[in-house]
Order: sequence, then C-alpha cells, then structure tokens
Amino acid sequence: MALDSAGDTSLLLDGEDVPPVLELNGAGRSPFLLTCDHYGRAIPRALGDLGLPASELERHIAWDVGIAGVASALSKHLDAHLIAQRYSRLVIDCNRPPAAPSSIPRISEATVIPGNEGLAGEVIEARRAAIFEPYHRRIAEVIDQRLRDLVPTVLVSLHSFTPVYAGIARPWHIGTLYHRDTNLPTLLLKLLRAETDLVVGDNEPYAVSDETDYTIPLHGEARGLMNTGIEIRQDLIADPAGERQWADRLARIFGEIEVMLRAQRLLPG
Ligand SMILES: [Zn+2]
Repeated sequence: MALDSAGDTSLLLDGEDVPPVLELNGAGRSPFLLTCDHYGRAIPRALGDLGLPASELERHIAWDVGIAGVASALSKHLDAHLIAQRYSRLVIDCNRPPAAPSSIPRISEATVIPGNEGLAGEVIEARRAAIFEPYHRRIAEVIDQRLRDLVPTVLVSLHSFTPVYAGIARPWHIGTLYHRDTNLPTLLLKLLRAETDLVVGDNEPYAVSDETDYTIPLHGEARGLMNTGIEIRQDLIADPAGERQWADRLARIFGEIEVMLRAQRLLPG
C-alpha cells in the first residue's frame, strides 16, 4: 500500500494519540536550537505495549530517562526553541538512519521487543510516516525559517545515558558527542572540564557517526551549522531536583559559550 510520505498518520496514530512533535518556546531568541530525539516514551494505541511489561517501558531502552525535564527547563533558561519527539525509541528511533537495523529495534540491550518482530514493509513505513518524518521535517522547517530570517542557529541535541549498560558501569557524569564540528565541542569540553566535580566524556559513552546517528549529521553537519550532542547520566537526573540542577548548570555554561562564540565572531556580535 502506498502511503502519503507528506505525513499521512491515519494508519498509525488516531485522535487519542498525542502528536509526535512537541515544541517549547518557539519564539525563543537564543541562537541555540535544542532537539530531543528521545524525549518521550509514548506508544501509539494501535501498537499496545509492544509485548513488553511496564517495567521495560519505563527504563532507558524506551526513552532517555530524565532528559525531558532538563530539556524543558534549559529551553526556558536559555530562551531557546526546543523541538522534541514524544514517542518511544522502541516504536522508531528518531536518531537512527531509517535504513539502520536499530531504527526499529528487535532487541534493545538484552530485551527482545516482541512487537517489532517480523514487521511488514508497510508497517515500518507507517511508523516512519507518522513519527519519524514529521519530527525531522519540523526541525528542517525551523532551520529553514531561521536561515531566511538571518537568525543564527547552533544545534544542540540533548540525550541521557544509562549508568550501567550490559553490565558495564560508566564513570562519566556528562559526555559531549560530536564528529565534524571543531568549534562548539571544543568550547563545551573546556567549560565542562572546568567544573571540578564532573567526570566528562569526550565522545563518551558515544560518538557521533553517520551510521549510528541521524539528527546531528542531517540537521547540523550537512547544513554547516555548529552543533554538538550532550549525554547526561540518567541517575543524576532521575528526579526533579536533579533535572533542575543540570538545567541550571547547562544554562550557565551555554550562556558562557554564547559570549565566547560572539567574541570569536562565530556568532554575530
Ligand atoms: Zn538519546
């Protein structure tokens, strides 16, 4: 069956399902454009629970625990536009190329996802059309509009990571993820390392690549925007107090970065 790639969501989402894209502070004046690929853990009603118990749908395999609170508060503190995605990465991962096997994972960490077994092509296409495409189309539209309006844009992609993955503990409190941008990640690493209480990962626990990422390569690198990803360890933002502290800290750091970018003429003064 052919689907309207312009966004016919009727085969997957109905009136009871939330829209995939959530935006905050769309009139924000900050040069930082915040994205959050794994903000939510909603599942379209038509997909039930994907065959998983609630305990699996609450942990990191379903979403980036804690990042929603950090991203929302950071958007407010920085006066920055946030574009976020409400559906679980188990339905479709909005930070994977659509052709990657992990786009709709059959296994995540050690959990088999029964609802993702043996999917027909049109079922996969319906998830893309309903969730993945509207999210990325909206990010592209916002960047287009900012370019037309001569509004400077620095892409910051927000994530969180589980403290223990496949039995291995991760020592970092926060990590930067980057690939082709040589300006912003350098400044961010410098300022994060100046926070003496932090263990900072330089492209740890993940680095950006064209095979394992989508948002930064497509919307940041391919468009020549300064960009970075951020990964915060989930146990540090597991409650509202932690989310608030990290949003406050990142707002202070990105405020300093904005001043530095202007001083370096990487942003208009
Ligand atoms: Zn993530």
